[in-house]
Amino acid sequence: MELLKKAGDFHGDICGGIVMGTKLAIYGMETMGMTPGEKDKRLIVFTEIDRCISDAILSVTRTSIGKKSLKPVGYGKFAATFVNIDTEEAIRVVDLGANKKDTGNKEEETIEELIERIANTPAEDLFRIQKVSVKIDANDLPGKPLEIVTCTGCGEVVMDGKHHLRGGNAYCTSCFSESYYELITE
Ligand SMILES: [Zn+2]
Ligand SMILES: [Zn+2]
Repeated sequence: MELLKKAGDFHGDICGGIVMGTKLAIYGMETMGMTPGEKDKRLIVFTEIDRCISDAILSVTRTSIGKKSLKPVGYGKFAATFVNIDTEEAIRVVDLGANKKDTGNKEEETIEELIERIANTPAEDLFRIQKVSVKIDANDLPGKPLEIVTCTGCGEVVMDGKHHLRGGNAYCTSCFSESYYELITE
């Protein structure tokens, strides 16, 4: 309940996604033998969607993008993978409810009723756990940067081995292939 409140504070409000994300993250950490709500240096979490549940997962697991322990991957799915980088054990936790088409009359359920229902439902009934194997590049692990290069095209710094080589020169992704932005020249 305290973890749910914290996740709600971080997110801005306690919505359905925060309720489910909190339960998912607690289940994931407990299955990994870790303590929900406490930072664990062995833990790296991949979240598959940039919606509410991921804020709860971030809050409960105490992982962060800046510490390289939270990896958002844009699959658009209500699921997250928990990796122990010491043992290489990994599990993927899938939200079964969010992945079910027929949600019945849950739209009439208030947030208080949802919190109550989820608290009284075993996690095994809400989520599916899959054992998985995750290969994490050394550049993507927490710790000091291993590779820092300067792009031959734009002169900007590229960290963590995210550069590309062409003709023996290093390029950033924007210069090498495609970019999410376009420069506007006037
Ligand atoms: Zn929300
Ligand atoms: Zn560049």
